[in-house]
Amino acid sequence: MKGVLRLGSISGVKIEVHWTFTLLLIWVAFLEMQRGGNLDRILLNEALILVLFLCVVLHELGHALTAKRFKINTQKITLLPIGGIASLEKLPEKPGEELLVALAGPAVNIVIALLLFLVVPIKSYFNFNAIVSEEMLYQPTLQNFLFFLFIANVMLVVFNLIPAFPMDGGRVLRALLSFKLGRVRATEIASIIGQALAVFFFILGLMFNPFLILIAFFIFFGAYGENQMVKQNSILKGHIVKEATLTKITLLSPSDSVGEVVNIVLAGTEKDFVVVENEKILGIVNHKDIIEHANTPARRVKEIMQTSFKTVEASTELQKVLEMVGTERASFFPVVENEKLIGAIDMVNISEFILLKAVSLN
Ligand SMILES: [Zn+2]
Repeated sequence: MKGVLRLGSISGVKIEVHWTFTLLLIWVAFLEMQRGGNLDRILLNEALILVLFLCVVLHELGHALTAKRFKINTQKITLLPIGGIASLEKLPEKPGEELLVALAGPAVNIVIALLLFLVVPIKSYFNFNAIVSEEMLYQPTLQNFLFFLFIANVMLVVFNLIPAFPMDGGRVLRALLSFKLGRVRATEIASIIGQALAVFFFILGLMFNPFLILIAFFIFFGAYGENQMVKQNSILKGHIVKEATLTKITLLSPSDSVGEVVNIVLAGTEKDFVVVENEKILGIVNHKDIIEHANTPARRVKEIMQTSFKTVEASTELQKVLEMVGTERASFFPVVENEKLIGAIDMVNISEFILLKAVSLN
C-alpha cells in the first residue's frame, strides 16, 4: 500500500500505519476543541486513540500469530482510521483453522478488557446518575482513561463479531457454515449476509457517523471480492497450467528493436512477451516496459527486458499461479515443460479459462 509509515516488526510481521491515520488524530482534536476542551482534554483523547490502536495491533497480531501456527505467514499489519488489516499470505481453508484464526483477534481484546476490569472500578461508573457521571467522566484522570479503554475494547469485540463477512464475525459464520455446506456455498451465504449488513451500516452511517459509511464500503466490496475468489478457486481446482497456456505467442529476440515490438503490439492483442535466444529464455518484456521506451524505437529488446522473472511448470496447479500473482507482483509468466518453453500464461487468460469453465458448469 502506498503512503504508509513503517513502525517496526513483531515476529516477522511488519507493522505499518497509513497516512490517513493522521486525519483521525486531527479530527479527534477538532471535535474536542469544538466542545471547548482544553489542551489536557485534547491530549487525553489523542492518547486514547493511540493506545486504542495499540490494542488494534494486538488484535491483528492475535490473527497473525494464530495463522502462523497453521503455517500461514502474515506480511504486514496496516493501520487505517477504520481499524487494522492483517495481510495473511493466504486464508486458512480448513473451517476449524479459519474459526480459530478469526476468533483469536477478538479474544485478545477480551483479555485486555478483563485485565482492565480488574484494575478499574467499572461498576462505580454505572452507579451515578447521568449528570454526575458525565461531569466525572470529563475529568482527565488515569482512571477515566482506563475506563474509556475498557469500553473501547468491549466495543471492538462486539463490533468485530457482527457476522458481516469479511469481518471477524463473518469469518466465524463462514467457518461454521463450511462444516456443513462446504466452503463455496458457505462463502456465498456469508457474503450475502455481509452485504446486507453493509447496506444497513451505510444507512446508519448517513444518519450518525461517516466512519460507518467507509466500513460499509469495505465490507460490501470485501464480501464481493472474496466470494468471487472462492468461486474462482473452486473452478480452478484440479486444473493445471498447461490447460490455460497461451501457445500462440510471438517470441522476441534480444536484438529486436523497440520499434518492431511496438508494431507487434499494435497489430495484435499481445501485451507481454518472452525474449528467447537459441531456445533459451533470456527475459520478459512487459507492456509497461514497451510504453516506457516507445519514444526510443531504436533501442534493443535486450536493453529493456527484465532479466529477473519467474517461469511456471506446465504441470503446476492453476491456483498456484493466482497465488504467484500476489506474491511475485507479476501477472505474466513463461510456461515450461521438460525445460522447454511451450508458451506463456497471464491473468487475462486465466480469467478467460474461468469464464469458459463457469459456463460449462452451469
Ligand atoms: Zn479481527
